Amino acid sequence: MTTSATKAGDGGRGFGARPVFVFSTPPTPNGDLHLGHLSGPYLGADVFVRFQRMNGVTAWHLTGSDDFQSYVVECARREGRAPALVAAHYGAEIAETLRLMDVEPDQYTVTSTDPGYAKGLQAFFTRLVESGSVAPREAPALFDGATSEYLYEPGVSGRCPTCDEPTGGNICEECGEPNACADLVEPAATGCEVPPRPGSVTRFSLPLHEFRGTVEAHHRLGRVPARLRELAERLFSRERLDVAITHPSNWGVSPIESDVDGQVIWVWPEMAYGFLHGIESLGRRIGRDWEAALPRPDWKIVHFFGYDNSFYHSILYPVLYRLAFPDLAVDIDYHVNEFYLLDGSKFSTSRGHAIWGKEILGPHSVDAVRFFLSRTRPEGRRTNFERGAYEAMLRDVLIGTWQRWLDDLGARVARHCGGTAADAPVRAPEHAAFLDRLGVRLAALTGSLGPDGFSLNRAAEQLHGIVEDAIGFARLEGVVAGSAAWRDETRTALMIELAAARLLARCAAPVMPRFASRLAAALGDPPPVEWPRAVDPVAAGTRIDLAGRVFFGAPAGGGLDASADGGFGASAAGGVPERGSPLLPWLRAVVISTLQLPEGTFVDDRTLVELGMGSLQAVAVQFQILQQLDVDVSLQDLLGGDVAALAAILDRLAAPEITSELATEVRV
Ligand SMILES: [Zn+2]
Repeated sequence: MTTSATKAGDGGRGFGARPVFVFSTPPTPNGDLHLGHLSGPYLGADVFVRFQRMNGVTAWHLTGSDDFQSYVVECARREGRAPALVAAHYGAEIAETLRLMDVEPDQYTVTSTDPGYAKGLQAFFTRLVESGSVAPREAPALFDGATSEYLYEPGVSGRCPTCDEPTGGNICEECGEPNACADLVEPAATGCEVPPRPGSVTRFSLPLHEFRGTVEAHHRLGRVPARLRELAERLFSRERLDVAITHPSNWGVSPIESDVDGQVIWVWPEMAYGFLHGIESLGRRIGRDWEAALPRPDWKIVHFFGYDNSFYHSILYPVLYRLAFPDLAVDIDYHVNEFYLLDGSKFSTSRGHAIWGKEILGPHSVDAVRFFLSRTRPEGRRTNFERGAYEAMLRDVLIGTWQRWLDDLGARVARHCGGTAADAPVRAPEHAAFLDRLGVRLAALTGSLGPDGFSLNRAAEQLHGIVEDAIGFARLEGVVAGSAAWRDETRTALMIELAAARLLARCAAPVMPRFASRLAAALGDPPPVEWPRAVDPVAAGTRIDLAGRVFFGAPAGGGLDASADGGFGASAAGGVPERGSPLLPWLRAVVISTLQLPEGTFVDDRTLVELGMGSLQAVAVQFQILQQLDVDVSLQDLLGGDVAALAAILDRLAAPEITSELATEVRV
């Protein structure tokens, strides 16, 4: 057996020592995340990064809150509050849902509040203008028939000029092609009976049809699924494809160029910069001098997104990068998912047809949800979520098959080997054959989690395959378990089953991190951090603690997590002397729970950064403060002083009745 900790090995093929930046599409803060979102880019990017790290690759997960979407403005109008408040509210809800899903981004950029973001974006835009290709051009547009307001994105709908399916403005979710709004068939303004009025507007725009060669060359560089290459082929068969890069709006970042008053840089081209800004921000925090304005040839970028974002990610952005950085071939891999359906129709935030992450996620359900979504997520085809199917999987597969096998294995090790791993004295031919089959499972898992063949559908099947193989093996070997003559063979077979359990713990780590750690612990191992190169035995003499272990909780109350960790009173009440603000015990509990510190950790005299808080967790704490205290605390206040000082600030800002209510709650 070889153990090479520094070599990337098969799983990280091709990345070597390059920094790998894995992006899940920054979500739009106009609602919380539902299972459709979570199953796609967020779970994908999270598992991808966990697996790469286990293979020694320096990979990071970056995402954030895409505040300047026009959908935020539309939501703000509906909810009767300012776009900035809507973005802050849902951006924080989203951060909290990702945390519940055990998705741990290393960088969470909030575009409307990030210092330096707007300036960097304007500079990126200026590069586009200086390339000569992005320039003010007059083109047809639609205006509200009653108010004359400029219409685009959620403000207008109609039928797609390409596929004739119903679509909103600018992008068709069915065929993936962009539209110009003015070319919609039978357009209608949202929430308005009067037909839209055709007119024209001068915006910065890009003649994308001139860049077929650029896109083709880019598509030969990285991993680009055929589905994306086919979309590009379709688009470039058009005679012209002019794409507006600015739109009339007051929500977003205006260019410094004064040619188009009252317009902002469209949020989709903006995102091309946002990715580079995220890399710079991450670098600043971890001590690397990466600059958004100077992308480097060794950067490897990996994108996870839904098919409806394909045009922007895989066709528009490569052209923008080429215009902004003509000497650089930006190297990007793409991972695209299709729509996840709920009971046969698309998840929909506005129609309330969704299962929200927070409805189903908790410490006892998160691994089951991650496994189920891995197994059923829409890779290459649309798939369907049914709550009944999730509950049946939890009951029959994870509890009825996995947990039952592990429990039974623990009982047999206790009976035949006194509860500890033993040497494997004799190896029968069938034993060797079973070990070989486990080796095949390992190779298949390495392939399905690796960058080229990445598929969580296949990875989930292979994990289940390890358990099914082991159960079949145990059944065949079990017939001589009571025989004194075949005692050594029985013990050998048990040790090989333990090796299968150990393989399961290590291979499940990227998909089900909590289960993997707990299974590893039951086999005497620390949480798995290295991807296995071989099927390794459990060392002789190791205490095996599998019998009676509960890894998966039964679905309770409709399969939802009945014991979601909403209350954090218990950890704060425990014997820590109180000083200062009445909110201190409450804040301690929030910090300890968010950072998952051991209960009773003394945090008062330390800053959140010293306690290891990342940007996502900072937003989560900010959110809890907003939600529970109704106080909008700045990042500077949040991160500037120690926990006791922060509590004192909150005490000043919060309404006294809220303070006394929370203070009482925590002490009870
Ligand atoms: Zn279409």
